[in-house]
Amino acid sequence: MDKKKKEEYRGFEQGPIRPPSEAYSLLLRLTRNCPWNRCSFCRVYTNKKFSLRPVEHIIMDIDLIHTYIQGISQKFKPGQLPDHNGISDLFNSFETKDRVAFNAAMNWYASGMKSIFLQDANSLILKPTDLIYILEHIRNCFPTAGRITSYARSHTIVRIKDENLELMARAGLNRIHVGMESGSDRVLKRVNKGVDKQTHIKAGLKVKRAGMELSEYVMPGLGGIELSIEHALETASALNSINPDFIRLRTLAVTNGTKLAEEARRGIFEKPTDVMMAKEIRVFLESLNGIDSYIKSDHILNLFETIEGRLPEDKDKMIRVIDRFFDLDPEEQALYQVGRRMGFFRGPEDMEGSPHMDQVKMACRHYGVTPDNVDLVIDELMKRFV
Ligand code: SF4
Repeated sequence: MDKKKKEEYRGFEQGPIRPPSEAYSLLLRLTRNCPWNRCSFCRVYTNKKFSLRPVEHIIMDIDLIHTYIQGISQKFKPGQLPDHNGISDLFNSFETKDRVAFNAAMNWYASGMKSIFLQDANSLILKPTDLIYILEHIRNCFPTAGRITSYARSHTIVRIKDENLELMARAGLNRIHVGMESGSDRVLKRVNKGVDKQTHIKAGLKVKRAGMELSEYVMPGLGGIELSIEHALETASALNSINPDFIRLRTLAVTNGTKLAEEARRGIFEKPTDVMMAKEIRVFLESLNGIDSYIKSDHILNLFETIEGRLPEDKDKMIRVIDRFFDLDPEEQALYQVGRRMGFFRGPEDMEGSPHMDQVKMACRHYGVTPDNVDLVIDELMKRFV
């Protein structure tokens, strides 16, 4: 007998993370945690066992959201959601009461029900027939959701037959988020990513061939000081071979409890300073050639949020953001670094005439920030965001 079938339905489930661009998406959990779970910098699923959720449970989650959405839409137009008492009355009017599912349905309804994100770290590990069946059910229930997306590992993607990827795309899965992190084989090996550059390239090209959009995540800093420039060059080289629709930057944070933090403690890994990181990102941007990807830097961990634009036409504009940082003297750079992580500046251009400058200076005085210790202080601040 299939052991998975014995598992009892525990109600609607949601996993811990989603990409920043999926903030308004309905999150549907197909698998729990990460089947790899060995990247040295990642602690999202530490000590959590990977499992596939039974397909019938996923269908029950979708049906539950569908029921709630139908009930909500009979009473309220989008944008006209009830007050707190109205929400409680509405919730109590349903026969099945699942607060997590109801809240997810309310939030999704309020945001226009445009997109769905499949959790957790690698939904494409499901049997293709199961995934296609789930996608078709999603589309029957929510025909207006134009975008269905998922994280996937390159290691998994290269093992899926092209025709199955195409069937997934036709069933509605139209964007894949891949954590490339680096295109350097040495960096990928050191951080135990479980894939090499060629596998990333092959996987990216397969996703595009299947007709899906591809979003590749790059992690500035992951090569440490030693491999910083190799990391920039090789990552750009891998992306030049793929030409993904999106390239997203998410700077490394060395998080307590990870293997990488232990390596940093022992001096095996040295995280680049912000100035080194700025140089690395500049080399990376300069080395992106022959592609028309859209670059985003939409994470608070990133030193420059205003690096954004389409290649090749916005390349110089994006590099200028970094050069503005290099134009600052060391004291001003330290103020920018702290102000950025406090959420006051998106780029060096926001400093001039900023109403927050006094607060930033006060924080620098409070923490005793100097150009020499600013990176240490920032690292502590950054740990709060991961
Ligand atoms: S594959 Fe992704 S989720 Fe899994 S351990 Fe690596 S970074 Fe973390």
